[in-house]
Amino acid sequence: MTAIEVLAVASEIYPLIKTGGLADVAGALPGALRPHGVKVRTLVPGYPAVRRALKRPQPVHAWDDLFGGPAQLLEGMAARLSLFVLDAPHLFDRPGGPYADAQGRDWGDNAQRFAALARVGADLGQGLAGGYAPALVHAHDWQAGLACAYLHYGGHPRPATVMTVHNLAFQGQFDRRLLASLGLPPSSFSPDGVEYYGSIGYLKAGLRLADWITTVSPTYAAEICTPEGGMGLDGLLRGRADRLSGILNGVDLNVWNPAADPLIDTPFDAEHLDLRGLNKAALQTRFGLDPDPDALLLGLVSRLSWQKGVDLLLGALPVLLAEGAQLAVLGSGEANLEAGVAAAAAAHPGRVGCVFGYDEALAHGVQAGADALLVPSRFEPCGLTQLCALRYGAVPLVARVGGLGDTVIDASPMAIAAGAATGVQFSPVNTPMLESALRRTAGLYADRTAWRRIQANGMASDVSWRTPARLYADLFRSLIAEPAG
Ligand code: ADP
Repeated sequence: MTAIEVLAVASEIYPLIKTGGLADVAGALPGALRPHGVKVRTLVPGYPAVRRALKRPQPVHAWDDLFGGPAQLLEGMAARLSLFVLDAPHLFDRPGGPYADAQGRDWGDNAQRFAALARVGADLGQGLAGGYAPALVHAHDWQAGLACAYLHYGGHPRPATVMTVHNLAFQGQFDRRLLASLGLPPSSFSPDGVEYYGSIGYLKAGLRLADWITTVSPTYAAEICTPEGGMGLDGLLRGRADRLSGILNGVDLNVWNPAADPLIDTPFDAEHLDLRGLNKAALQTRFGLDPDPDALLLGLVSRLSWQKGVDLLLGALPVLLAEGAQLAVLGSGEANLEAGVAAAAAAHPGRVGCVFGYDEALAHGVQAGADALLVPSRFEPCGLTQLCALRYGAVPLVARVGGLGDTVIDASPMAIAAGAATGVQFSPVNTPMLESALRRTAGLYADRTAWRRIQANGMASDVSWRTPARLYADLFRSLIAEPAG
């Protein structure tokens, strides 16, 4: 097996900078692919947190003017990741989030920021860094989408390209008048190129022009080809269905290991599930919930957004409470949803608790202490929290959409009889169906032996990167072997 070099282009990477699952994947894939003979180096923006973490940076290239200011490309290691860092202070050295300011307003120059990232990704793919010649460029989400366009229109022999969609809802659409300033030829502004409903579509460009498209679960790969799930891109995706596949995400078992997790109160494993009770008690204390060891404690760790079905959960709250359950919400996001959760906590002290913000350690605490983890998403490309929940013996209660449907085995009578059940699913995704799933979960929880079986099945599920990494490696090899496109 000859080793292959892959350049990943990603706008976030765990543990340096993260707003969602994309960062987890970009952070975990390089390590997971290494045993398969795939060497991944990742190009990321030089946000302050990334610059700070980069060890012994070596300059690779410099620009006097890259989309409005001087920039340099650095290479080095950070958190055991082999990185190229685009150090462009006018684009990336600012407080706030990667895409928006502290008030949640998108940065006004996102078009230039992520065109710069993609442009440099494409240049690296074509030998910008001396002897480095990746055989494949792996673009993650809209922020990297234009890399496929720059390579396509570059007019040179190019590496193979893969566009991975982590969430089709984020598409990166910008004014057509920017075309020339982005360095794209006039001919690229066509339905077969970067044009998207009269604008420039960064994700669209990647989906149209990459050699292959992946998304993060087989079911989501099918859903995005339908008008209901395609978010305007289903026609294009149907046309490329023979070049589209779904590969599930895994979780990093070193980060998510309940038997040796420094972020939780009491480590435990499947043979010592009793110890979870201590984590449950700690969680109840942290969220101001009644210290009741028998109450069904439901957790939610999520961006608070329409996608995640938080409003559906608030609608189902009376049923949740009537079943005697407690609810612990960790999340941040839309103001009206935060207000709704806060109001529920105020109205039901001891039964509903919330912590707003992004708190990695507490996310581990919720997984380790909650009896069940809620994921009532309207759509979910893969979902990571249910994978962590399986690993931590928190029974996932999920909407049957996207990767949630692919990773959780519903506790139907047949699945229970077969000893296969790992969680609870509901469909269609609405409040009444969530209510009935909550009732079903409470019923299962009341039978402690059956519940333990479901927990143990979940903990035995393979949620690692092992299989997904093999699938990516096989895909990369097959594309590299194809004649240049
Ligand atoms: P998405 O990428 O759509 O937000 P995923 O389930 O794919 O959803 O990934 C979310 C990741 O972010 C998970 O690793 C989850 O644990 C984490 N996460 C979400 N919200 C929070 C939060 N408030 N605090 C800590 N971690 C969070």
